[in-house]
Amino acid sequence: MYNRRKFIKVTAAGASLAAFSSSLFAKAVQPVAAAGFPIVISTWDFGIAANKEAWKTLEKGGRALDAVEAGVKIPEADLKNHSVGRAGYPDRDGHVTLDACIMDEFGNCGAVAAMEYIAHPISVARLVMEKTPHVMLAGEGATQFAVEHGFKKEKLLTPESEKAWKEWLKTAKYAPVINFENTQGMPGGKDNHDTIGMLAIDAKGNISGACTTSGMAWKLHGRVGDSPIIGAGLYVDNEVGGATSTGVGEEVIRNVGSFLVVELMRQGYTPENACKEAVNRIIKKKPDSIKDIQVGFLAINKKGEYGAYAIQKGFSFAVCNAEKQDLLVKGKSYNS
Ligand code: ASP
Repeated sequence: MYNRRKFIKVTAAGASLAAFSSSLFAKAVQPVAAAGFPIVISTWDFGIAANKEAWKTLEKGGRALDAVEAGVKIPEADLKNHSVGRAGYPDRDGHVTLDACIMDEFGNCGAVAAMEYIAHPISVARLVMEKTPHVMLAGEGATQFAVEHGFKKEKLLTPESEKAWKEWLKTAKYAPVINFENTQGMPGGKDNHDTIGMLAIDAKGNISGACTTSGMAWKLHGRVGDSPIIGAGLYVDNEVGGATSTGVGEEVIRNVGSFLVVELMRQGYTPENACKEAVNRIIKKKPDSIKDIQVGFLAINKKGEYGAYAIQKGFSFAVCNAEKQDLLVKGKSYNS
């Protein structure tokens, strides 16, 4: 009798334990539907092609860090993209100087700033993270480091970029400007800035991000924007989420924008509301600036929920997950 009762109890406990562990197991093996990952999002319409490349890694169960590096290398290599990578427009002296940073799920990060002659700054940024005790290398030191690690040193100024720069020189009076949003008629038009910032969550739920740009066209030689600065152009906290930015880097640096967005998500803000609050901070400090400048933030939280917000309308971002690989979303904006 005793034995039978004990047997029944143990069996019942075992059954409920089995049910409990099978529900745990079900959660563990079905993160895609339940939690919204793997997923990759990135700034602007050129993010669609970049996301698709990143997705090749994510759909195989690969690491978010590998996905974001592979993804942003697409616009870096695109000869038609004049705001990222090898075909980026030069500074006012004709130098193509590139900025990039990368951050992984452990809080490791690496960056290069104002680096010349190397077509894939994001991969150099990753090497800075993985092979040095530093976070950022700049200028000639960054190029030297890249060459020492096997990167090809090459002239990046394409004939098309050179032509656009020479056109600009004719009327520019050699005056650097930081924003062309409202000057569509100028050489380069709206294409003369726009960064790719990419955030991914892999099948294990780990978050990484990458950000790469040629910065503002016709900038002062040596100017560095927000894009290679951890906390400004990109920030990832694997407990909370990630954020990245595009637009006038000076304003993003002043407000440590991407770090702010992640910290707001930590406090419970949705990704979109966190981005909106960061935009509002910029506007509050410089109310006049909203007429002339663009800043956009893009964010994702640990659950895979995403959102964006910009000062000016026109900001878009690309989303790629198991359901759809080429979604382009119009970001909300202050000036709509
Ligand atoms: N944020 C970049 C920079 O300031 C440019 C951009 O995204 O438009 O260099």
